[in-house]
Amino acid sequence: MRWKGSASAKSADVTQQMDFFSGVPGLAGGERCLSWLARPWMRPGFVGRWRRLFLAHFLIGSFFLTLSYFFLLSAQIQVTINGRAIRVFPWIGVGRAVTAAGVFAPPGDLLDVTGKVLQAGGGRPPAYRKNSRETTPQDRLSPGDAIVVEAGEDVVESVTEETRRQPSPLQVEGVGAFLRVVRKGEPGEEVVARGSLSGKTKEIRIKQVATPTVLRRFDYNLARKIAVLTFDDGPISPYTNEILAILDRYQIKGVFFVVGREVEAHPDLVRRIVAGNHELGNHTFSHRLSDSDEREKIAGELSRTEEAVQRASPGARLRWFRPPGGVLGGWILDVAEERGYVPILWSVDSKDWGKPADGIAEKVLDEVRGGSVLLFHDGGGNREATVNALPGIIEGLKSRGYNFMTLSELFYYLGLD
Ligand SMILES: [Zn+2]
Repeated sequence: MRWKGSASAKSADVTQQMDFFSGVPGLAGGERCLSWLARPWMRPGFVGRWRRLFLAHFLIGSFFLTLSYFFLLSAQIQVTINGRAIRVFPWIGVGRAVTAAGVFAPPGDLLDVTGKVLQAGGGRPPAYRKNSRETTPQDRLSPGDAIVVEAGEDVVESVTEETRRQPSPLQVEGVGAFLRVVRKGEPGEEVVARGSLSGKTKEIRIKQVATPTVLRRFDYNLARKIAVLTFDDGPISPYTNEILAILDRYQIKGVFFVVGREVEAHPDLVRRIVAGNHELGNHTFSHRLSDSDEREKIAGELSRTEEAVQRASPGARLRWFRPPGGVLGGWILDVAEERGYVPILWSVDSKDWGKPADGIAEKVLDEVRGGSVLLFHDGGGNREATVNALPGIIEGLKSRGYNFMTLSELFYYLGLD
């Protein structure tokens, strides 16, 4: 044998050590004995014994595995999921049987009032029925059960309703600085339905139709030659200062319809207007006002200007109101009157924002009448043309016999106080 031959070359020492094992029964010699110690599977008969042992265990194991398999198979029951037959273990429950059948039944979504998804899966859970009765995914199964599962229904957010008043639509007739109510309309009422989560409007129902208010603009066309100089959109440096200097020079008192934002920026100019016995009007805080604005927004535009004026010049009076662009619709006129303002527009629009000085003077002198309220701008842009036109306008009016009044003086003169 190969191992015997290869060992023949070993030294005498090694042979002596091997003799130590020579007495062990069944061993043929020292060299063989050493090989078993290093590699026990080389021992004669070793492989055969282990092979038999392994085979026996394998067969027994396989037997029990097969037994278990058939036992488990026999434990499965047949049910139908949405009409499709499937074999499942009864203890896995309805929900897992549905999953095992490959049926996908998601929950519904939460939708807003316009039908958009607010929260995916935020609707109703899937609906399970066992043998036509409602059930839960945890319910156990019995042979022959017919399970029907449907995707969950979508749920629409709840709706909150708010009744709000609609302003009387405003019809303005004629031209002029003064306003007279020809017909007083009534506000309407509408119900606004909104999604309570999204805030989106679902619908607006008219509960009561608003009736229109008719307003007439007019002037007094007095025989006496009186003119009122009014200046909008300031106070702004340097134009308000320059205009005040011109008015001082001619000893004329004007009316300044101030913008609250500019008042905050130039309180010194407000103090100068008040100290010069000129009058102040409210021209809103931001110079942005629309007939679709809510009452609160309009009131805020007025009150913020009032506060700014009071901070600049405590005790200063703000009696007049002129809305930007002359827009009085929506709630604007209502809110201004509630706060005690007298709305004043204009008789002659100088259009000083789009003309050179001589063009401004020509237009004003052409259109002025007894009792006219003249509209100029000291703010809102470059007002050099206005400043340059003003002395010529004043001198032109004086030469035609005009006197200048503030609005308070004109109201007193007209007996309107
Ligand atoms: Zn303005």
